[in-house]
Amino acid sequence: MARVVVLGGGFGGLTAALELKRLLRKKAEVTVISEDDKFAFLPSLPWVAMGGRSAADITFPLRPILGKRRIAFIHEAATGVDADAAKVFTATKEAPYDYLVISTGPYLAFEDVPGLGPDRGHSESIFTLDQAERANRAWSVFLENPGPVIIGSVQGVSCFGPPYEYAFEIDVALRKKRVRHKVPMFFVTSEPYIGHFGIGGLRDSKLLMEHEFAKRDIKVVANTAVEEIVPGEVRLKDGAKVPFKLSMFAPPFRGVPVVAHLGNPKGFIPVDGNYRHMKHKNIFCVGVAVAIAPPEQTPVPTGVPKTGYMTVKMAKLAVRAIVSDITGVAPPEEIPIDVMCLMDMGDKVALMKAYPVLPPRQESEWKQGIRYRWMKIGFEKYFIWKMRHGLSGLPDDAGFSRLL
Ligand SMILES: Cc1cc2nc3c(=O)[nH]c(=O)nc-3n(C[C@H](O)[C@H](O)[C@H](O)COP(=O)(O)OP(=O)(O)OC[C@H]3O[C@@H](n4cnc5c(N)ncnc54)[C@H](O)[C@@H]3O)c2cc1C
Repeated sequence: MARVVVLGGGFGGLTAALELKRLLRKKAEVTVISEDDKFAFLPSLPWVAMGGRSAADITFPLRPILGKRRIAFIHEAATGVDADAAKVFTATKEAPYDYLVISTGPYLAFEDVPGLGPDRGHSESIFTLDQAERANRAWSVFLENPGPVIIGSVQGVSCFGPPYEYAFEIDVALRKKRVRHKVPMFFVTSEPYIGHFGIGGLRDSKLLMEHEFAKRDIKVVANTAVEEIVPGEVRLKDGAKVPFKLSMFAPPFRGVPVVAHLGNPKGFIPVDGNYRHMKHKNIFCVGVAVAIAPPEQTPVPTGVPKTGYMTVKMAKLAVRAIVSDITGVAPPEEIPIDVMCLMDMGDKVALMKAYPVLPPRQESEWKQGIRYRWMKIGFEKYFIWKMRHGLSGLPDDAGFSRLL
């Protein structure tokens, strides 16, 4: 029986573990190691920050789902990976493996910009559940005495979507409360232009976003870097100073420290078309932990986003490659990954599709409207239900692609 260790219990880790067991059954002994004992549907964190979702709405415990499928669960942080000895270490255990799947997500590098982040800095963040809950408390305090809002992405960011969603949601919420006229709003980003998203834009995303920000009276400062954030003020590299009552900035991502030695200088792990490590052939890596080269060098450094949709596809491909190794069936075809994303704009949702993710693309789509909001809510409910019941084999897109 092959021993497969899966590091991480998020989008990639949970998908990989369930798929391994579904396809290999008694041929594999699967162990998940995760420092969190819950799965969190991270795409809903902006809604948590705005008070539309609670932690209970978007999380569920991992142990019962894994236990039902005879997948072992170690609820501890991995403290070391010895690729030569083929072992993962935690504070109390060591887990030897024949195959390792890494899906450890991002390390949030707040220290890259002085004053960035909620713990040791002066800006909110919505990239973990704790941060989103804290941002929600900050939002309540802000509403008692509103003032300027600044939202954006600092240099080196790769996950650009959440600040867009958060800015649009705040704009709509303030209008509903009829206090928008008291709140100057700024959107500051390292992207060369808004709508770039780290993927070189998508169709006419630049024009659409320019129009949307102008319509909503949100002032955009693109192609810029943040020098530092001090209480109540963001200082940009070009010397400009923007005051704020509420600020939220996306942090740069890096690979998490425990696997960084297997990756590039940023700790992201280079893989082949089957998500297999370039050197250690029994190690696979999926999701945010994977190294993807940007489509172009931007004047201010930016990275490529790795979305949940992409992560699930990567995990399924990696599992099929492991199944091929173990059973001798043909390996999966190395096809580029497509992406579908539903971006909340407060009063409507933008549906983005691209194949492949980076240009030049065979297909791309951008549609927006209120009906896609129902699709986004439906997708959230579907994905949480599917994973809570361990049904990783069901379609990744809830069948929505066929409706378009
Ligand atoms: C605010 C926000 C909004 C988003 N919106 C969207 C969206 O609309 N659509 C979309 O497709 N994607 C979206 N994403 C991206 C999506 O959530 C990620 O692509 C996805 O979570 C990546 O999956 P992953 O498995 O790589 O990492 P994660 O889901 O982050 O999981 C990482 C796992 O690794 C574990 N881990 C980390 N270090 C260790 C360690 N040392 N030992 C043990 N365990 C460890 C963690 O506990 C966690 O279980 C959003 C992300 C955020 C933050």
